[in-house]
Amino acid sequence: MADNELQELRSQVDDINLQILDLLNRRARLASEIGKVQQRLGTTFYDPAREAEMLTNLERENNGPFSNETIKALFREIFRASLALEEKEARQKIRVMRKTADEHTVITMPDGTQIGAGDFSVISGPCAVESVEQIDEVAGALAARGVRFLRGMGWKPRTSPYDFQGLGIEGLKIARQVANKHNMYVISEIMDMSLVSQMSDYVDIFWVGARNMSNSFLLKAMGQVRQPVILKRSYGATIEDFLYAAEYIVASGNPNVILIERGIRTFEKWTRNTLDISAIALLKQESHLPVVGDISHSAGRRDIAIPLAKAVKAVGADGLMFECHPNPPVAMSDAKQQLSIPEMHALLDEITDTDKVLA
Ligand code: PEP
Ligand code: MN
Repeated sequence: MADNELQELRSQVDDINLQILDLLNRRARLASEIGKVQQRLGTTFYDPAREAEMLTNLERENNGPFSNETIKALFREIFRASLALEEKEARQKIRVMRKTADEHTVITMPDGTQIGAGDFSVISGPCAVESVEQIDEVAGALAARGVRFLRGMGWKPRTSPYDFQGLGIEGLKIARQVANKHNMYVISEIMDMSLVSQMSDYVDIFWVGARNMSNSFLLKAMGQVRQPVILKRSYGATIEDFLYAAEYIVASGNPNVILIERGIRTFEKWTRNTLDISAIALLKQESHLPVVGDISHSAGRRDIAIPLAKAVKAVGADGLMFECHPNPPVAMSDAKQQLSIPEMHALLDEITDTDKVLA
């Protein structure tokens, strides 16, 4: 008899479980509808006033036996799960976010050279073009090591207006001529939208620097160019800010974006910025865009270039960026961090030897 009673009660509980399950999923579908409306209105998903109102209503209607505290704890959990669902759905709509594990954006250059296809790419060259001789010496040495992507910076973003600002379009023309000689691609920073058409004739990949990462007008303009775009993370940007900046370019029509982590500002003084290794891992996990690590502007010093390069490779980046100058102590910008040509060779020796990197 008692057995039957237990079974009957249990079957009622099973029924109620199914009803709760159905109600929870119906509630989740409604929450996701609300999320869509909120997105259209541009409001945030989390609305603390609305949450407080729902909890007050539940307290008023609660006749026990659960205490108000227990009911509130249970419903807070339901609210949290709904919010997570709305956020997940919203994220799926962001173009730069990874939708499946095997989704990868691969940048393919005219001769078939790729970034993001599994090989570890190297981008290098001087901080700025200073003269034909200076960049030619570096480019020749890099090309001999198989490096195909040359920094050909005409305009330099400098902290002080009295520091060397770059050779401008003349610098870019020099970079083009030298890159052609060594069968390399020119990557050059665009400082302002007004330079798009002038630069287009000379660059193979546009570069948006850290200071312009949040310049949405420039980002939208980069959505309209035919060349791929390298986007640097600002020193004060969260990973999310960074991905939204990339989203501007992709949503404006250019899917070929490469992300560069270049160090963020922290309290640390022994490095210029702090290379955010976890950002590289997270960007690879969350986005399908290729990710490169800049070990020059992050560290601001050349003596730890090799271990940092190994770390960038080990954490799963698609490539590495570092500055290289024929005579770093006399460089007109970033003298402390540029690698000399022998230092560049030593670094490439280390990172092209997979066993050493993993040892
Ligand atoms: C650069 O890489 O040339 C540069 C100026 O770096 P950032 O924009 O990261 O400061
Ligand atoms: Mn520099």
